[in-house]
Amino acid sequence: MQNTVAKVAVVGSGISGSVCAATLARNGISVILFDSARGPGGRMSQRREISEDGRELLFDHGAPYFTVTNPDVLSVVTEWESRGLVAEWKSNFGSFDCFTNKFVNTEHQERESKKYVGVPGMNSICKALCHEPGVDSKFNMGIGKFEWLEHENLWSLIGLDGQHLGHFKGVVASDKNIASPRFTAITGQPPPLDLSLAPELVKLHDIPIDPCFALMLGFNEPLSLVPANGLSFTNSKVLSRAHCESSKPGRSSTSERWVLHSTTEYAKDVIAQSGLEKPSKETLSKVGNEMLQEFLGTGLTIPQPFFMKAHRCLQGKCLPSNKHSQGREMCLE
Ligand SMILES: Cc1cc2nc3c(=O)[nH]c(=O)nc-3n(C[C@H](O)[C@H](O)[C@H](O)COP(=O)(O)OP(=O)(O)OC[C@H]3O[C@@H](n4cnc5c(N)ncnc54)[C@H](O)[C@@H]3O)c2cc1C
Repeated sequence: MQNTVAKVAVVGSGISGSVCAATLARNGISVILFDSARGPGGRMSQRREISEDGRELLFDHGAPYFTVTNPDVLSVVTEWESRGLVAEWKSNFGSFDCFTNKFVNTEHQERESKKYVGVPGMNSICKALCHEPGVDSKFNMGIGKFEWLEHENLWSLIGLDGQHLGHFKGVVASDKNIASPRFTAITGQPPPLDLSLAPELVKLHDIPIDPCFALMLGFNEPLSLVPANGLSFTNSKVLSRAHCESSKPGRSSTSERWVLHSTTEYAKDVIAQSGLEKPSKETLSKVGNEMLQEFLGTGLTIPQPFFMKAHRCLQGKCLPSNKHSQGREMCLE
């Protein structure tokens, strides 16, 4: 066993924080990982819903899949694949033009890069990494303040509730909001990290935020007349993508489940009217109906769903990658 040489706090259990925490732990550094959410995954979370008739429905409401170009990342993904944490999603993908109401088959072009999904949910990778030996994961624990203790040469972390969470030799923050005025707009509190401690982080403000709404849908029958399990939409103000959850490897196929993603522009318009605070039931219901109408309006012969629920992804779709624009392939470099 390697000796423990330092104690590091990692904030955020999304893919960045989880990979970082597990890598540090494998190198003998004891890690405490904090996340304000109930469980691991961040924007690679899986959502569990129960329909009115008691059926369990699971949805990847954030990233539906990822692709890889960097050979180093590919070797990490291959290791995850050998552990059964990810699998290739082999399916039909295409593009639908909402102006001509025609399906444009871009299957060949989109098949150029393999699409990977977490198994049995997108959060499975983070779940496994957060529980590796040496990683002590604490959920429902939001960090409200990073304090630098000059004399001790240590970081002190304070919870959003004012609780003292310990001293650390190093801290890793995986979410740009820790130093962003946006944190104040959402929580009413000052950002956890005072930028005078790390002035170079001001450039984080330049990373675009692409908010998005996700609509989770459950159908009793397969949408057999939709010729692809992953669609990107062109010429729609409302919809950007749609994915059939139940067609992914390792998922239950007892019901047909789809997730629709809105365009960033649509989400920004809604947020401009409703504000940054948690959206009301009425707002989510209006968004859900508008997204569903756009999907039904494609003429792709889509029945009424037995389950629908909208969710707002405030952090949005932006990636630590050079290709984060909407409707294009997204990739873990
Ligand atoms: C709708 C949508 C579609 C997407 N589509 C794709 C796709 O097709 N392909 C692809 O590769 N990527 C896609 N992405 C992007 C991808 O999901 C993200 O780039 C990636 O998951 C980000 O991981 P991360 O660890 O950097 O951040 P996150 O997953 O956002 O994790 C940050 C974590 O930090 C926690 N946190 C933040 N502040 C605090 C605090 N103060 N205290 C404690 N915890 C805190 C949060 O709760 C969160 O769990 C999509 C994202 C969305 C939302």
